[in-house]
Amino acid sequence: MSQQFDPNCLFCKIVSGAIPSKKVFEDEEFLAFHDINPWAPIHFLIIPKLHLPSMAQLEAEHAQMMGRLMVLAPKLALEQGASPYPQGGFRVVCNTGSHGGQEVHHLHMHVLAGPKPWVRG
Ligand code: 5GP
Ligand code: ZN
Repeated sequence: MSQQFDPNCLFCKIVSGAIPSKKVFEDEEFLAFHDINPWAPIHFLIIPKLHLPSMAQLEAEHAQMMGRLMVLAPKLALEQGASPYPQGGFRVVCNTGSHGGQEVHHLHMHVLAGPKPWVRG
């Protein structure tokens, strides 16, 4: 069974409110908030409130939660101002582990959108 909360985890502290964030969306299962160092005109992160270090820890029991996360991303991208598909659209990035460029070890999906050029990506 996954650990629900890691007191040393930055994003668990954002979930608990101990560290403030610019919130995009919240329900019982997920929190979305603006990235502190955006690479694109629209750049927010969606995290499950459940502490999972990365996609590498996903098991079959998480499939429905991850499905809901994938369905939430396009909805929030449009709400945050992304232009509609196909002229607009968005990019999702889920860095996993050191070779994947992951810095914060609480599973998160980057959602990036808005007119190019972007700072990165
Ligand atoms: P990673 O490289 O792990 O996929 O991305 C972590 C992201 O979290 C980075 O884009 C970074 O800017 C963002 N980040 C790191 N610390 C904070 C913070 O305290 N607040 C917010 N809103 N974003 C953060
Ligand atoms: Zn965490």
